[in-house]
Amino acid sequence: SFHRILKEEIEQEEHLGLGTRTNIYSGTLRVKSEEDEDAGDSSVQKVKVVLKVLGSGHRDISLAFFETASMMRQVSHKHIVLLYGVCVRHLDNIMVEEFVQPGPLDLFMRRQQNPLGTPWKFQVAKQLASALSYLEDKKLVHGFVCAKNILLARDGLDMDEGGPFIKLSDPGIPITVLTREECVHRIPWIAPECVKNVNYLSVAADKWGFGTTLWEICYDGEVPLKDKKLTEKERFYAAECQLATPDCTELAELMTHCMNYDPKKRPFFRAIVRDIDMLVEQNPSIEPVPTPEVD
Ligand code: ATP
Ligand code: MG
Repeated sequence: SFHRILKEEIEQEEHLGLGTRTNIYSGTLRVKSEEDEDAGDSSVQKVKVVLKVLGSGHRDISLAFFETASMMRQVSHKHIVLLYGVCVRHLDNIMVEEFVQPGPLDLFMRRQQNPLGTPWKFQVAKQLASALSYLEDKKLVHGFVCAKNILLARDGLDMDEGGPFIKLSDPGIPITVLTREECVHRIPWIAPECVKNVNYLSVAADKWGFGTTLWEICYDGEVPLKDKKLTEKERFYAAECQLATPDCTELAELMTHCMNYDPKKRPFFRAIVRDIDMLVEQNPSIEPVPTPEVD
């Protein structure tokens, strides 16, 4: 169940990049405000959106694409991207999402000249954990938690603006329709049990992905296992290896708990949020700046 958007309601603009089987564009959506539907043109607002287009060549996976859209339509959380709806435009299927700037966390972190502080990193980690705790409570699986799928709505570089503010993006095409090679390519984000069998995808897999994302945050957006070939990545999981331990000891410990090869031993996100709060309480130097609401 998802809201249908008419093709006349959207305008496609600049090409932003390629997702897995998708093309991503910026665009605008014309939305009528519900209160004054009869007021005519004056009630129509234009909002900047992102269009994720699954082209006509991929109609075989359109059902899987709609699965992602349906999951995103069930959530409403300040740290999760808003999905306006789905549009069928001729043979294309399109997810219409909130446009979030300055955009992906990994690119942002890699661009920084000055090191990002520990409070900044803790605030991002806590916001992500709270979004995933919300999904956990709803028994919803994201399926591709990684720094590239975290968008910054506010970079928080000016300390008076209340620190960073993130929104978790949609996971894209579910791993159940990816090729074996695409799954292996997603090591070390994809959980080890899912490489063995994609049907093992569960909330526990998001905990592993959260751990990998903590690693990316600690290493300022560096790509884990960047120089490894696919066979080396496969061997990494087969031998139950671990990523290098980050200097930030508090986040490193959390990361290690999440990246347990036994999915049952990974902590609840609720407990992770509590741990982060406790770490901050015990160590005032990492206390995040108070977060005002984003409009
Ligand atoms: P898929 O999830 O289908 O694999 P993807 O969206 O994850 O696709 P990305 O590489 O994350 O693929 O996105 C491509 C580019 O689109 C990103 O570099 C980012 O700049 C931009 N982008 C994606 N979503 C948004 C958004 N909600 N707001 C602004 N820019 C976005
Ligand atoms: Mg994405």
